[in-house]
Amino acid sequence: MKTFTLIFITSCLAIFLQAGKLQKKVIPQSYIDKDRSRWAPFYLEVWPSKTVDSWKVPFETPDRYKFSSIKIISKYGSPRLSYLKNHIHTAIDIIPAKSTGYITVYPVASGVVCSIHLDHPFKTVVVKHLLKDNTIIYTSYKHLQEIYVRNGLQIDQNTKLGRLYTHTEAQKLNGNYDHLHFEVRKSFDDFGCASWLTMTREELNQYFYNPADFLKQNLGIVKKTINVY
Ligand SMILES: [Zn+2]
Repeated sequence: MKTFTLIFITSCLAIFLQAGKLQKKVIPQSYIDKDRSRWAPFYLEVWPSKTVDSWKVPFETPDRYKFSSIKIISKYGSPRLSYLKNHIHTAIDIIPAKSTGYITVYPVASGVVCSIHLDHPFKTVVVKHLLKDNTIIYTSYKHLQEIYVRNGLQIDQNTKLGRLYTHTEAQKLNGNYDHLHFEVRKSFDDFGCASWLTMTREELNQYFYNPADFLKQNLGIVKKTINVY
């Protein structure tokens, strides 16, 4: 009987250890987790001095509360072949519905600049926003040709963040960067690299909101809380 109990316990232990090993194998480290520390030095731990009281489109359009005053070039959530094959597009690519000349980019709400990272043609400004219920969200503005702000700067909707590439400037770089890659983020724990390393729907939902839905639901004066999806 004693021998049987010993064999039983040993077998259970072996199965348990094997299961532990298997579990480790089926959870590979994501590209985001592997890369995030590289971008941490560009992040500044700062707190917005004001809460968000309204949301506007990020360009100087005739009515910044109107979603129809911007034009979507590329949708959120579509698979991309550039850089890392089949990564998911985490933004909407946009321009003003009617535009000529240099296009200036503005924050969609008040906040503080908490990261400026990458170089041409992906120059990126990230803004941290404080909501009335004390939650924090982020908006990210990518493909800027010039940047007019610095990390830690408190900003409002009229602060010029930067400007977009003109069509001619983008063509010189053999790219189609003459639009704003605009993200609304639930988290910035990735320090920015999820923008090009998101490979699954779970990661997309972990870090991002659909910016088109977000703007459609929230443009205008904030009443009590924001609508987020
Ligand atoms: Zn984009």
